[in-house]
Amino acid sequence: MIEASVGQDGDNRAADVRTVQWLVLRIGIEPGGIDGIVGPRLIAAIRSVQERFGIEPDGRIDPGGATLARLRAAPARWADSSDWPEARKLASLHPQFRRQVVTLIDRLRDDGFRPVIVYGWRSVAVQERLFRAGTSKVTFSFHNAQTPDGLPAAWAADLVDERWYWREPDAHVFFRALGKAAKAQGLVWGGDWKFRDWAHVQGRRNAELAAVRRESGLS
Ligand SMILES: [Zn+2]
Repeated sequence: MIEASVGQDGDNRAADVRTVQWLVLRIGIEPGGIDGIVGPRLIAAIRSVQERFGIEPDGRIDPGGATLARLRAAPARWADSSDWPEARKLASLHPQFRRQVVTLIDRLRDDGFRPVIVYGWRSVAVQERLFRAGTSKVTFSFHNAQTPDGLPAAWAADLVDERWYWREPDAHVFFRALGKAAKAQGLVWGGDWKFRDWAHVQGRRNAELAAVRRESGLS
C-alpha cells in the first residue's frame, strides 16, 4: 500500500504520503492537505493515530508496520465530503478524470463562470443517505469509485457556479456551458439524461458502472 516510510525521518515519497494523508483522514483525523508533502500537521496526525491505537508515537508509518496495519483495519469514519476544501475535492478524483476536470474548470473560468465542485468523491455511506433521501437513484455511483484499498478515486464530479448553485438566473446558462465543455473533454454530462442531473459530469459511461464497482474492490 505504501512503498517506503512516511512521516518523521521517513522517505516520504509523494504517492506514499498522499496514501497516508487519505488513510488518516479516513478515520477522522485531519491530515492537512492531500498533497503528497509531509509537514508538521501530518506528523502530528500520525502521532494522534498512534496514540489512539496505543502504539509508541514516533510520527512515522512504515510499510508492514503496526500503525499501517491498524489504520487499514480501522472502520472508515469519513465526514461528508461536500464540506471539503476545493483542493481536497479535486484530489479525490481519479487522476485521469482529475486532469479533465481541471481543464474543464479552466475553460469555464475563461468564459467568465465561477465553477466550484460540490461533490467529487463521496463515501458509500453518504451515497446511501442520498439514495434514501431520493436525491440519488443508485446506491453505488461513479462518485463512490475508489482504489482497491478504499481511498477516493471518483469518476464523477458535480459542478455549479458559486454565485448560483442550482438556482441559475438565466435558463441554465452555467449548466449548458458545463455540458458543452464537458463533452468537448470527452466526458459524460448528466444534463443529457432523462433524469436530468445538471451539475454532474463523469469520466466513464453508465454501462461501465459495474466494472468501476469491481475496480473499486466492491464486487
Ligand atoms: Zn453527480
